[in-house]
Amino acid sequence: MSKPVIQIENLNVGFNVRQGMLDVLHGISFDLHRGKTTCVVGESGSGKSVTARTILNMVPRPGVINGGRILFNPVGGDTIELTALDPRGREIRSIRGGRVGMIFQEPMSSLSPVHTIGSQIVEAIRLHRDVSKKEAKQMAVDSLRQVEIPNPEKAVDRYAFEFSGGMRQRAMIAMALACRPEVLIADEPTTALDVTTQAEILDLMKKLQEELGMAIMFITHDMGVVAEIADEVVVMERGHVVEVGDCDRIFNAPEHPYTQKLLGAVK
Ligand code: ADP
Ligand code: MG
Repeated sequence: MSKPVIQIENLNVGFNVRQGMLDVLHGISFDLHRGKTTCVVGESGSGKSVTARTILNMVPRPGVINGGRILFNPVGGDTIELTALDPRGREIRSIRGGRVGMIFQEPMSSLSPVHTIGSQIVEAIRLHRDVSKKEAKQMAVDSLRQVEIPNPEKAVDRYAFEFSGGMRQRAMIAMALACRPEVLIADEPTTALDVTTQAEILDLMKKLQEELGMAIMFITHDMGVVAEIADEVVVMERGHVVEVGDCDRIFNAPEHPYTQKLLGAVK
């Protein structure tokens, strides 16, 4: 197997609060692989979002990295230690949204209400790729088509508020994919959607995974979603990774009591 595209090694993150240092990630380790969807699962507060943000070197304030590291092995390039980069520096800004894309639960957290969908995607592309406005607009239309938004040529000139929740989520995915990232980090992207729309977005993610072959880190607290989409599963409990494994193995023979409990909850 090729080198993992992302390696999280013994990562410790704490929050510097009034009472002192509060550890929220206790030396966690796992990898993301090209062409694979890794679901990170665990109850609310277990540290999933902090992990996602730390990969992008966006540890939420007042969080600090107290140990360990995260490595990025880009295709045809040298290993980059993401956790060693200046969080506001040029290198991480070119990786964030470029080679490592991200989508969140609430599309309006990354889509602007005052710019058209197309102009936002064009801006994101031009930040990371040396292409003309015209080429970028064509890439925007192509990425809207790829996420199956109807009439992509017209949709580029519309605003997020004109779209339904599911279409907004698709537009955000289109924006994240427009730069052809090697890694896509999705933090509970379907949690706020109704069941039918959720199923459509999961199907779309599976299709995109097959077409584009990036590594996907898909955060969810829903084992039903995990069963639907995961190749690998990482189980987190209160800041610890308690189990990592192949999706079938996790469902058929969960080893850790916490994983067993999570699975029991869906039966
Ligand atoms: P999850 O995404 O699994 O629900 P999070 O990663 O958001 O959990 O949070 C993990 C832990 O870190 C929680 O205990 C949460 O209270 C704490 N935490 C998250 N953000 C902050 C913050 N900005 N300040 C202090 N504590 C935080
Ligand atoms: Mg979260």
